[in-house]
Amino acid sequence: MAELAAKTEAGRALVYNLTHRMDEEFLPAVKNALANGTTIHDELKKLKGARWTKYSAEAKLFCSNVAMEVADECVTLCGGIAYMRDFPLEKYMRDAKITQIYEGTVHIQKNEIITALIKEYASKEGEE
Ligand SMILES: Cc1cc2nc3c(=O)[nH]c(=O)nc-3n(C[C@H](O)[C@H](O)[C@H](O)COP(=O)(O)OP(=O)(O)OC[C@H]3O[C@@H](n4cnc5c(N)ncnc54)[C@H](O)[C@@H]3O)c2cc1C
Repeated sequence: MAELAAKTEAGRALVYNLTHRMDEEFLPAVKNALANGTTIHDELKKLKGARWTKYSAEAKLFCSNVAMEVADECVTLCGGIAYMRDFPLEKYMRDAKITQIYEGTVHIQKNEIITALIKEYASKEGEE
């Protein structure tokens, strides 16, 4: 239970850190769009360096897997009764499982992360 609690906090921290950093960059983009008469999309395109796709994919991958691990362990702890539809745990497990499937499966998130890592590595190689 302690490890599950720690992993849940780690996932929460990953998401909050990501969204905080996104807010910091996106809010100026919104303000610039209003000031310059451009679109938010135009302003966001000017941002260089931030790899939101990679960070988002990392957060979704980690949190989906933690959610599934937590739900699975809780079902194991409670035994057969947790598997029955009479109690909410079986739904929590299905709710956790779907996060590994929709909005980009865990494998697709991994594809995104490795693609970003290869690009980062290639651009660093070019600098040297
Ligand atoms: C309850 C529920 C709600 C949904 N809601 C929506 C919604 O609101 N809007 C919407 O658009 N869709 C929705 N979906 C669909 C969901 O996005 C898809 O189920 C999901 O994208 C996976 O696609 P698929 O089911 O066709 O599986 P497949 O693409 O057939 O994948 C099967 C397996 O192969 C793996 N795989 C597939 N391609 C690759 C690859 N290139 N590399 C590595 N592994 C791969 C997958 O990770 C998965 O494990 C929903 C699905 C469910 C079950």
